[in-house]
Amino acid sequence: MDKEATCSKSNGTVEGNYYEILGCDQKASFFELKRNYQQLIKKYHPDKHEGSSSTSEKFIAIDKAYKTLMDENSRKDYDTSLLKRDFDEHFLIHVELSQSELDFSEDDTALYLCRCGENFVIHKKDLNEGGYVMECFQCSNSILIK
Ligand SMILES: [Zn+2]
Repeated sequence: MDKEATCSKSNGTVEGNYYEILGCDQKASFFELKRNYQQLIKKYHPDKHEGSSSTSEKFIAIDKAYKTLMDENSRKDYDTSLLKRDFDEHFLIHVELSQSELDFSEDDTALYLCRCGENFVIHKKDLNEGGYVMECFQCSNSILIK
């Protein structure tokens, strides 16, 4: 545990995958999307779950997912953004730092302020000559410390 960043792990800002929301995979046909949408929308319709905010949130998410994917162009755009998100999530280095840029305190930790506003805590003992990669849990930023 606490090997690298202590960036918050709450992924509240990351949107759910629209295909997952609709219970389809990315190759799903329009017909499948529509069928699943209709089933889900029945299940989560706010009229059936009065006062349940989690249900209405789900309903809105389903609706939004379907509206995005039912349109060929917006689906294409969405697929592109998914691809990019996957890519960004896998060790794409956005920032390179050298150890000398870090200001280590007496307990051999240094803070690095991520672009998303989260602080990375860097432990000197984790650094080695080959370089050290840390990922932010809050955004998709990765930093390489050399
Ligand atoms: Zn970040």
